[in-house]
Amino acid sequence: MNITYKIICSSCHTPISKNSLIEHCPQCGNNWLDIEYSYHTLHHWPDLLSERGASLWRYHELLPIHHQANIISFGEGWTPLYHAQNLGLMLGHPHIYIKDERQGPTGSFKDRQASIAVSAMKEAGIKEAVVASTGNVAIAYSAYCARAGIKLWVFVTSSVPADKMREVALYGSEVIKVAGTYDQAKQIAAEFARSKNLFLDRGLRNLAAREAMKTIAFEIAEQLGTIFAGHDASLVNGNRFPWRAPDWYLQAVSGGLGPVGVMKGFQELQALGLIEKMPKLGIFQVSGCAPMVSSFEKGLTEAEDIEQPITDIATLATGKPGKAYQVLRELILTYGGTMTAVTDGEAFRALKLLAQMDGISVEPATAVTIAGLIKLIRQGVISPHETVIVNCSGHTFPVEKHIVGEQYARDMLANANSEPHGREEGILTALEEIDGRIQRIAIIEDNLDSSRLLRRILQAQGDFLIEEAHNGTEGLALIQRTRPNLVILDLMMPGMDGFAIVEAMKNDPNLRHIPVIVVTAKELSAIERARLSGKIKALWQKGSFLDSDLLQEIKEALPKT
Ligand SMILES: *Cc1c(COP(=O)(O)O)cnc(C)c1O
Ligand SMILES: [Zn+2]
Repeated sequence: MNITYKIICSSCHTPISKNSLIEHCPQCGNNWLDIEYSYHTLHHWPDLLSERGASLWRYHELLPIHHQANIISFGEGWTPLYHAQNLGLMLGHPHIYIKDERQGPTGSFKDRQASIAVSAMKEAGIKEAVVASTGNVAIAYSAYCARAGIKLWVFVTSSVPADKMREVALYGSEVIKVAGTYDQAKQIAAEFARSKNLFLDRGLRNLAAREAMKTIAFEIAEQLGTIFAGHDASLVNGNRFPWRAPDWYLQAVSGGLGPVGVMKGFQELQALGLIEKMPKLGIFQVSGCAPMVSSFEKGLTEAEDIEQPITDIATLATGKPGKAYQVLRELILTYGGTMTAVTDGEAFRALKLLAQMDGISVEPATAVTIAGLIKLIRQGVISPHETVIVNCSGHTFPVEKHIVGEQYARDMLANANSEPHGREEGILTALEEIDGRIQRIAIIEDNLDSSRLLRRILQAQGDFLIEEAHNGTEGLALIQRTRPNLVILDLMMPGMDGFAIVEAMKNDPNLRHIPVIVVTAKELSAIERARLSGKIKALWQKGSFLDSDLLQEIKEALPKT
């Protein structure tokens, strides 16, 4: 590899050494340094990439490691980018893409940071290091340091979930639990490193760590380019897909390293002429620890600290954002975007929603981003034509108890002594018993996307048997045949419309009592409203309701069992 980069002081512009672990400018003492590469040598970069492997090291020309032998890698990076179709359908937003960082070797996007930061440590000959963490850095650094033969001291707060901490210990790191806030743990880690003369990883100020996050931007642009070229037939036959920037990059932040690095990545792509524009930045924090958001809303140039974070989402409990706030605020003022807070509760609801709508199980910190996405779409800050990337930053591995509750499974006894035949019957009886509690719901809707969405919202709750019909005539036949506990009805359908179904049901003594909820895209006239009045339970306008509100209505309309 022939990597040429230089480290320069952001304040006096002095070029410094070639060691990316250097922390201060020897000229002026400033501790905010930057790395520049020889971009002019990278004219044919995308051509070179087509022959490279599926890891972040495919971008090695723009990463600060000189020698291949120093690279510590588990194949991190090049995570999939997929279309969140169901979530998009629910939110009325067709261009949501999930960058699935759960698929890193230790389950979060900190694997990128660990790979490059630990490789840089190896290149600098470091044998022992100290890091403070809200959880995931501890796990990722521990795994990579184990592989690199570097002894790691990890400082965490006692609020970090025990399952995470056990994994850190498994890799052989020394774990020090600090009874206090993360900011206090950080300070103690710094004192410890100084007293023992050990290398301290300073997160945002560790250039190698910051550079690592650029690879998220590189991958997004490369992957989006391919996705959009696929949509545009005229580009498919060309031999190279153009890269593409999204309209938004969204992430929940703690220290803010992720978005600071990601935006540098997009800036470099723009300098290389690979993308045309910069994305806007959506930054989210939990309302119990939102120093950046509150400072941003007040228009402050420096962040006001939060001394005592109040949140169950330990990953995001950084109360003192420092320089990260200034950098992120500057990026938002330059390229557009916003900072917004969501509550723990909103995050937990979003966590369930994403798992049940799209099969993606994320840790609470990631769910903060999902909740933020929902909020910005509802507020109209993100508009439907914009392409949005969600950093799906970490996995749920140990699903915390308060998220699914105790009653997450149905108990069933399998009788070991009975004959094979009898045993099968026992199982069927048990299943029927469970079935007896299940309510039947008929969805009559000719738009397949809408009926699929309704089915998903209902299925997410588990206890419904759902049947669908996609035109009015079949719908009425379904209602007559199955006599459901509830009907969800569209109005505008070819042939027999929803109004006619409601009238037919009211004229049939067997069907008259079945509650009907109308979900329609139609703006009703006064005459149409009068036709339905007194005959239906509720009327919902498509696209204007929250799935949770509709569910509440459905539960109330169902006969009690
Ligand atoms: C670290 C982390 C964050 C916050 O990232 P920063 O860019 O460091 O603020 C969000 N989600 C998960 C899962 C994380 O591990
Ligand atoms: Zn300087």
